[in-house]
Amino acid sequence: MKNLYEGYCEGTSTKLVREEFGDIKVYTHNVKSLLNKATGFIAAYDFTLNPYRGCQYGCSYCYAAAFSPDPNMRQDWGKWVIIKENAAEILEKELDKWREKNPHQPPTIYMSSVTDPYQPIESKYQLTRRLLEVMLDYRPTLVIQTRSPIITRDIEILQRFQRLRINMSIPTGSELVRKDFEPRSPSIKSRLNAIAKIKQNIHPLKGFLPKISITITPLLPTFPDNEVAFIDKLKIADRVVIQDFHPSHNRSLVASTREEVQNIKQKYAWWYDKQQLSYMRFKEILMTRLPGVEIKEGKDGFGYD
Ligand code: SF4
Repeated sequence: MKNLYEGYCEGTSTKLVREEFGDIKVYTHNVKSLLNKATGFIAAYDFTLNPYRGCQYGCSYCYAAAFSPDPNMRQDWGKWVIIKENAAEILEKELDKWREKNPHQPPTIYMSSVTDPYQPIESKYQLTRRLLEVMLDYRPTLVIQTRSPIITRDIEILQRFQRLRINMSIPTGSELVRKDFEPRSPSIKSRLNAIAKIKQNIHPLKGFLPKISITITPLLPTFPDNEVAFIDKLKIADRVVIQDFHPSHNRSLVASTREEVQNIKQKYAWWYDKQQLSYMRFKEILMTRLPGVEIKEGKDGFGYD
């Protein structure tokens, strides 16, 4: 039976509705499978893993909105989330199967491709945390893509992964720009602090230091006054990844940037009127000021190694 989400569809199956979280509608759902074959930008991985459907951060440029289960929910991207309630149990079964078939080859997993695994509701449901606990036994190569300081809650588990890369998403160095493009997301400062906290709290003799990327994807404008100070702070990472907005004609990405962002971009004509130049100039400053950091572009930046 097709799931119906109360508030979005007529003829509701209200048992799917659990509660509201802030102004977010929360639904729960039991899934039949969790791991998906990785494609597009991250095709080098065996699987993508999304603990949730929907994302409370609701960034204006998010291409994942295209995967909403209902057209109205696409419109309301950021205002609903579906918890995959039985995810831990399903993950264990799927990883058991993988191990049976590939006893000497741990899987490579990218978490997450179309949601943030550490969006605010994770602080209450701890679903991502439970998935990490399941994964540990299978020794995967794991990449966690997030923009949330909530990840620091799990340091004690994270340090037990031998092959972990954390991709912290920070698309701009200007708080004003962040507030325009992604007003519900954590501050830039809190994301940088989260990375510092992770690095400081993992003792190399007690755990494994994760690799750290800062993903400036898509590269949003940074005001000239903030540029140098921001870029200097990126020394905390071992890799910085930049990428332009997803072009709508590129089918390998399945979906393109949301239309909503076009209006916001108009406010930043000083950057977008010469977008290619702005990109190249920013890249050049990165390369000049971060000699010890790997600077990668687009798909190349999303691999584990
Ligand atoms: S945090 Fe990521 S998945 Fe969530 S809305 Fe923003 S871009 Fe989309």
